[in-house]
Amino acid sequence: MGFFSSLFNAIGTVLGVVVKTVAEVVTGIRKSFEDYRERGGATGALAAQEAERKKDRLREVNEEIMDLRNRRMSRGDLSDQERRRWAFLREEREELLGKVNQAKEVKAAEKILDSEALIERVEVDLDTTHVLQYNAFADILGKKCTCGRHMKLQWRRDLGVAGPGDFYWGCTGWYVQQGDGRACNRTEPLQREDYALMTDTSAPEFTMTSEEFGELLTNPGTEKIIATRVDDLRSDLAGRRKGVELATCPVHGEHMVLRKKANPMGLLDAYFLACPHWRPNDGGCSFIEKLKSGSQLAALLKSETGRGVL
Ligand SMILES: [Zn+2]
Ligand SMILES: [Zn+2]
Ligand SMILES: [Zn+2]
Repeated sequence: MGFFSSLFNAIGTVLGVVVKTVAEVVTGIRKSFEDYRERGGATGALAAQEAERKKDRLREVNEEIMDLRNRRMSRGDLSDQERRRWAFLREEREELLGKVNQAKEVKAAEKILDSEALIERVEVDLDTTHVLQYNAFADILGKKCTCGRHMKLQWRRDLGVAGPGDFYWGCTGWYVQQGDGRACNRTEPLQREDYALMTDTSAPEFTMTSEEFGELLTNPGTEKIIATRVDDLRSDLAGRRKGVELATCPVHGEHMVLRKKANPMGLLDAYFLACPHWRPNDGGCSFIEKLKSGSQLAALLKSETGRGVL
């Protein structure tokens, strides 16, 4: 596979394209996509079905690993057979995660080839950081840490409107508990090329500056409308026992679940995504993502309902 020569995310944005034009990038993707199809690679509905089967198996594997973990916690130890089973399941999970990521790559390539006419280059600066934030939120593929895990685009969460210098790469190993600490604490500053994106800019959110967009969300009427839409989405997803399409847990590979805090202080404090294996009082997976910006809510609503926050 390898349709992309640079980083890309699950919603079809290409990152790190400094010198190439949109036409060059799209032509490159089309060429390798067609080669892949000619070699018999699955695309479209068939690829989606295959991916669903892998995800179903992934869920079973995760459940069994969780069971073994709980057994070890309550009994203090496991039998040799149980330990071997655990090691086997972890290997199977790695393999499944690789397959699921390949399916994401097919989907991202299809998305780009379908929306070619709407794709534009964006050089992220003070006025367009919300475009980066919007895209940072979806799974990004291709950025690996020195420890081998994926890295995630992060930003300082305490800021109302993040500036270009407030973003950094953080290893997803940070969410993996190891002894008393984290499996990996590594962060990296963004490189110049990380600020060059190619993305579908047709969303109305992108016609505004980051500041205008941030201000708009402080309007109580707008806040209320968005909250209602996110609440509706949450009950719809919960009713179908589904996670959100654009983000998965880096450890378990399952789609994240949209949740709401008990006593939120306003719209940008109310929602978060959690791994299906997350538990309110520790013990489960610690991967959560707070939805603290309008860009994240916009990306989520756009991906699930076809319309962002505007
Ligand atoms: Zn599960
Ligand atoms: Zn790492
Ligand atoms: Zn998880």
